[in-house]
Amino acid sequence: MLLTAVLRSLRALYGKPPRPISTDPFRLILWEQVAYLVPDTRRRAAYIALRTRIGLTPAAILDAPPAALLAITRLGGSIAAPERADRLRRSAELAQKQGPGGLRAALQLPISEARRVLAKFPMIGEPGADKILVFAKAARLIPLDSNGLRVVQRLGFATEARDYRGSYRRAQAALESQVPKTMAACGEAYQLLRQHGQDLCRRTAPLCSRCPLRSGCPTGSSEAFRSRPAGA
Ligand code: SF4
Repeated sequence: MLLTAVLRSLRALYGKPPRPISTDPFRLILWEQVAYLVPDTRRRAAYIALRTRIGLTPAAILDAPPAALLAITRLGGSIAAPERADRLRRSAELAQKQGPGGLRAALQLPISEARRVLAKFPMIGEPGADKILVFAKAARLIPLDSNGLRVVQRLGFATEARDYRGSYRRAQAALESQVPKTMAACGEAYQLLRQHGQDLCRRTAPLCSRCPLRSGCPTGSSEAFRSRPAGA
């Protein structure tokens, strides 16, 4: 199955994904840090609280009282809220230390260097860096979160490696020749694959009987999955 066909089916199933929250790289970093392990609706609420109560610039975050930042990261979930408030501050400091042109200029460096710049920010691993590069319109590739990576593997585009990083890189290499032509389409691919991994192609008990990709999916059409009742 070609990736374009997969994405066409997923778009027909889920509709056009919403626009990313921002195309500004610093704001995209804040989006990652403001919440943890919560639904996107709650992440959005925490991000909007950050925008309205404090502001989304490095200077505004460095000026904010620590208690105000903590109240916002608590809106984004109870896990590591104090640490995430601290990460917002450290990210603001790092962003201010960027050279002329700031973070956006740094993302115009060759992709391996741009990834290294982003990886200095807390909570931004390689998949997160790739997502920021694409949403900020600085690179053309297909970012994958854990949901999207699982979908890509089950569809047979790539196999698992020994660790997550190896699996991620293997999937990137496998998809390289099928990357959509525009960065907007790359961002859409990320969102559609993620949504499919969350909704139907779940980690445990994937709902293959409802999946439009099943006939071309080596996992979903395998004997083990075919004999499985929906949701089991
Ligand atoms: S058929 Fe099943 S395993 Fe394959 S993509 Fe669909 S939900 Fe995932």
